[in-house]
Amino acid sequence: MTTLVNPADGRTVADVPDTPAGEVAAVVQTAREAFEQWREATPGERARVLLRLADLVEGDAEELTRLEVEETGKPAAVFRDGELPFAIDNLRFFAGAARSLEGTGAGVLSKGYTSVLVRRPIGVVGSISPWNFPFIMAVWKAGPALAAGNAVVIKPAPRTPRTTLRLAELFAAAGAPDGLLQVVTGGADVGQALVTDPGVDMVSVTGSTETGRAVMRGAVDGLKRVHLELGGKAPALVFADAALEHMAAGVVMGATYNTGQDCTAATRVYIDRSRYGEAVEALRDALSRVRPGDPWEADSDIGPLISAEHRDRVDGFVRRASGRVVWGGAPIDGPGFYYTPTLIADADQSSEIVQSEIFGPVLVAVPFDGEDEAVRLANDTPYGLASSVWSADVSRALRVSHRLDVGVTWVNDHLPIASEAPHGGVKGSGFGKDMSQEAVQEYSVTRHLMIKHAAPEARDSFRPA
Ligand code: NAD
Repeated sequence: MTTLVNPADGRTVADVPDTPAGEVAAVVQTAREAFEQWREATPGERARVLLRLADLVEGDAEELTRLEVEETGKPAAVFRDGELPFAIDNLRFFAGAARSLEGTGAGVLSKGYTSVLVRRPIGVVGSISPWNFPFIMAVWKAGPALAAGNAVVIKPAPRTPRTTLRLAELFAAAGAPDGLLQVVTGGADVGQALVTDPGVDMVSVTGSTETGRAVMRGAVDGLKRVHLELGGKAPALVFADAALEHMAAGVVMGATYNTGQDCTAATRVYIDRSRYGEAVEALRDALSRVRPGDPWEADSDIGPLISAEHRDRVDGFVRRASGRVVWGGAPIDGPGFYYTPTLIADADQSSEIVQSEIFGPVLVAVPFDGEDEAVRLANDTPYGLASSVWSADVSRALRVSHRLDVGVTWVNDHLPIASEAPHGGVKGSGFGKDMSQEAVQEYSVTRHLMIKHAAPEARDSFRPA
């Protein structure tokens, strides 16, 4: 049993039973049976079920908002008016993508043979998700895999399981075969039981880099396909010609959205030395306007951190930090697990505060001299997920962005995403893409059908291509 705690006030919200690790195999077996039906569904049939699911999610907005806000403490308006409509748009995109998952007709590649390429589902996908965006992550995991014709067993993070459980209920109500999307609950042991189950053909995890390694190790014996969306430590590169107020507003939004518990959060601001002082001041001003507060109050910009332990962890990073605290730097008193938005200037590049993923509303500022140094510092962490470049010079912004080892670079903004655009990292941030047609492709395999069309007596037509 896991007791869920509301991070905004520390009160118990609900008790959710954990799935015994020994029962995961039976869940996977049911998923295999559902897969055998679903793989025969036409793309149009799959799309219709996903579109009905999107409508049911839309109709369930109030309940989903209550569950997500109770478990994460994020502002209700942020979820209801932002993340939830986005997740619905994701589902509608995946429904459309199911119908355009085409292999190419490859033509006559060897004399006497016609080749056809078809995309087929992989089987049962075991998915593991984190607590920072519980509902969106469940949609990003389940949506493309189901669109491609797979069955999915998903394990949400132990602190935030209920919107994922609700998604599976709504999916069943949308007319999906029984057992096609199932949820197992619990911690790492249940996650490992899923990853190592021989009935699971592919594993997909969004979580920390360390968890990604553990999942990959668990998938080795079965040689399973692995999809890893892991941690991040996004740099924001501010050049001398950037509009500083605009930059400060965008970087601070990027650093504090979801209380910084975001793998793409702006965490390191590198600023051209000629405007360093001004930029740090602009960042401090913007940060001072961010209002942590009750998730149900309309004027709250950010909620608490996910737990008391996580708040202590964030505070530990800040206390040990190199550099000077320009703003914030302390927990906020009260029953919830709030932390002040924090800016640390003059941090040392090799220090922990610059190198490690903190997952809190903490921004570090470091000066640079010239483009080459900016790029070198930006690339100098184990991660490679997101980044932003702030400059009025579009040539420079493009030039610099091409040199960054990351999955996404925003120019003069930080954070926006779209259902059509692939999301995923390189280096310690993992591999594989969420959203977009690429995600649907990742949950499918290309098969080659080679059909002999030569007359039966033509025996000499085979030769290696
Ligand atoms: P976490 O790694 O602690 O847990 C993620 C999930 O993995 C949970 O469901 C957890 O129970 C499970 N898990 C943990 N250890 C496991 C193991 N050994 N085997 C199998 N499953 C295991 O991460 P978190 O604290 O829930 O989430 C925060 C992390 O997620 C951050 O590092 C963040 O950057 C990352 N994240 C990445 C993306 C992305 O798209 N790249 C998006 C959101 C979050």
